[in-house]
Amino acid sequence: MRLLIKNGSVVTPDGVLEQDILCEDGRIAALLERGHNAQADETVDVSGKLVFPGFIDPHVHSRDPGMTEKEDFAHSTLGALVGGVTTILEMPNAIPPVDSVEVLRQRKEQHEGVAWVDFGLWGIAIGDSNIDELGPMFEAGAAAIKIFWGYALRKDTKQLVYNLGDEPPENLILPPDNGAVLRVFEAVAAAGGLLAAHCEDRDILAASQEDLGHPIETYEDLLAARPAVAEATSIAVGAQFAKATGCRFHVVHMASAAGADVVREAQDLGLPVTAETCPQYLSLTDSDYERVGPMMKVYPPIRSAEDRDALWEAVNDGTIVSIGSDHAPHTVKEKSQGLATQPAGGVGCETFGPVMLDRMFAGDTTPERFADVMSTSTAKLYGLYPRKGAILPGSDADLTIVDPGATWTVRNEELVAKQPTSAWNGFELTGMPTMVILRGEVAMKDRKPVGEHRGRFVPARHNAG
Ligand SMILES: [Zn+2]
Repeated sequence: MRLLIKNGSVVTPDGVLEQDILCEDGRIAALLERGHNAQADETVDVSGKLVFPGFIDPHVHSRDPGMTEKEDFAHSTLGALVGGVTTILEMPNAIPPVDSVEVLRQRKEQHEGVAWVDFGLWGIAIGDSNIDELGPMFEAGAAAIKIFWGYALRKDTKQLVYNLGDEPPENLILPPDNGAVLRVFEAVAAAGGLLAAHCEDRDILAASQEDLGHPIETYEDLLAARPAVAEATSIAVGAQFAKATGCRFHVVHMASAAGADVVREAQDLGLPVTAETCPQYLSLTDSDYERVGPMMKVYPPIRSAEDRDALWEAVNDGTIVSIGSDHAPHTVKEKSQGLATQPAGGVGCETFGPVMLDRMFAGDTTPERFADVMSTSTAKLYGLYPRKGAILPGSDADLTIVDPGATWTVRNEELVAKQPTSAWNGFELTGMPTMVILRGEVAMKDRKPVGEHRGRFVPARHNAG
C-alpha cells in the first residue's frame, strides 16, 4: 500500500520543506522534491496545508479500568484522533495502577482492543513497595515512571487521596518520604529510564491552606492555597536528586514562572532535568475565571498572565521540551460542583492540538518549535524516536495535516469525550487538524474517524544506563 501526500508544507523542528511524502506499508518511504513522478495507490492533495509529524500527547488519564464512569480508553483515544493526535501515552493511575510488569502487560492487551491511536504506557512508583518492578517495567517497554510526589494512596485501590483527613489512616499508604523518593530516582537511573513527577510540595500546600484560614471560595483562594513556591521547591529537590543519582527527571504539567526558572537553572548546570507544560497553562490565566468558571480547576492551578508568558518563553528557549494535555476527566456532575468541592482536572486530548495551533497561529511560537514540543522532542524524551515523532524514511507514517484557515468553536455537546467538560467550551479556535495519517493510512478526516480503530502499543526503548 503506497500513499502519497502531495503539495503540502512539511513542518519539522529544523525547517519547513516544500516536499511530498511517499508512505509505503505504514512507514515513510521517501521525501520527494516537487515534480517527481512517483506513483501511489492513493494520493492526497494537501495544497495550502501544513504537514506535521503526528502529534503525541504524553499525558492522558483515560480512567480505564476502574473509573469508566469518567472516561474510557475508546473515548479518550477517539478524542485524541479527531483532535489530530497519532500517539498518546497513558498515565498509570487507573484501578489497578500500572505498578508491575504483570499489570503493564494486561493494560497493553486491554487497550489494544479499543485504541483509535497508537499508545505507550506509563508505570507508577509507589515508594519502596514496588521499587523492584521499575527496571522490569522499562524492559517491558514503559515510556516513563510517574511518582505522584507527596500524595497518599488508598490501600485498596492505590488511588490518590487529595485530603488526608478524608480517610482513616489505616486505609492509607502514606506518601513516601524523601529518602524513599531518592531510592526511586536510583532505581530509575539504574534502568536508564525517565522519572516524572507531579511537583507541588505537600507541606507548603498544607501550610498555605492553613494560612488561608477558611475553605476555598474564590479563585484567589485557590491560588493562595497552592502557591508557585510549592512547585518550585519540589522541582529544586528533584533536581538535586537527579544530580545525585544521574536519573533523568521530568517535571509534568509545570504551571509557574518560578518553576520554569528552577528548571532553567538546573539545565544550565548540566543536570538531566526537563519539563512539560499544558495547553491550559499556555492559553488561560486567572482572569479567564470569570468566563470559564470552576471548569478550569486543575492542579497545579492556572496562574497569572506573567506565568503564562514565562511558560511561553520557556517553550521557545527550549527549557520546556514537551507539551501534554493532562486529559483527566471527571463526570459532568462532579465538574458541576463549586470551585471548593469539584475534583481537579478535565477533558483535554481532543482540544490539545486545536488549542495549541490557535496559539501558534496567534504568534506565540513558530511552526518549527511547535513540531518539536508537540511531537519530535516528546518522542525523543520517551524513547519513541525515530519510530515516532519524525518525518524521515523508515519512521512510522504518522502525520497531522493542519488547515491554517479552518476555524472551530469548541462545544461540549460536540466533543467525543464520555463526560464532556472542556474549559474551552465556547472558545473559537483558528487552525485545525483536518486529517490524520496513522501508519500510512488515512485515520481521520474533518473530525471524523476513517475506518476501524487500529491503535497499537508502542514499546519505548530507553538506552540502558
Ligand atoms: Zn496528570
